[in-house]
Amino acid sequence: MASRQALIALVAQHNGEHPDTYFIRKAYVDAIVQAGGIPLIVPPQPKERVAAALSQVQGLVLTGGVDVDPRLYGEQPRPSCGEISPLRDELDLAAAAYALQHNLPLLAICRGVQVLNVALGGSLVQDIPDEVPGALKHRQQAPGWYATHAVAVQPDTLLSSIVGSGTLDVNSLHHQAVKRVGKGLRIAATAPDGIIEALESTEHRFVLGVQWHPELMVESCPAARAVFEHFVQAAAAE
Ligand code: MN
Repeated sequence: MASRQALIALVAQHNGEHPDTYFIRKAYVDAIVQAGGIPLIVPPQPKERVAAALSQVQGLVLTGGVDVDPRLYGEQPRPSCGEISPLRDELDLAAAAYALQHNLPLLAICRGVQVLNVALGGSLVQDIPDEVPGALKHRQQAPGWYATHAVAVQPDTLLSSIVGSGTLDVNSLHHQAVKRVGKGLRIAATAPDGIIEALESTEHRFVLGVQWHPELMVESCPAARAVFEHFVQAAAAE
């Protein structure tokens, strides 16, 4: 069973810089291929079509990208909120809803963990420097493969079963973060400043969201590779 190759959907990326382009950063695709999965890129399309596409796959990756519209979690936008993409919000929330409803293994990265949280009724910090005094630098200016801050991984979590509990060094390329945790989710890792860095579902087989970018660290960090390997294995065992 576990040797079956899993078809893994990745939501396409979109932003205002290239409004006529759907794209995906190759590191996501490469990490899935390296872990033994078969990538399928899912672009924006009507909700029912998103569900139809996901009915064909064994796992879903929610990729990084621009900010989630604060109105989707009941807030008005602060001046420090960044770019939003209604197209992506619609795609990502439809994909997240499908995965949660059908217990599809889900790996949610950066914007992805924020989407996962909002999909389950949680809220976000719109801008860490603006709203969290004394926070660390979470938008690093070092190369993406380079870890710049630590996170504490909670014991007895899905995440700790993959990377071990205790301290893990991660990269950090975000200015938003999880604020109020959504229903059915628990915190799996936090930064030393208290910023939530990983969430997971207590009600699903494999629903894991990380605020960092493991796809950029697969060469340098065994824990980053392990995240993709465990995710693809969970999908293949469907
Ligand atoms: Mn961070």
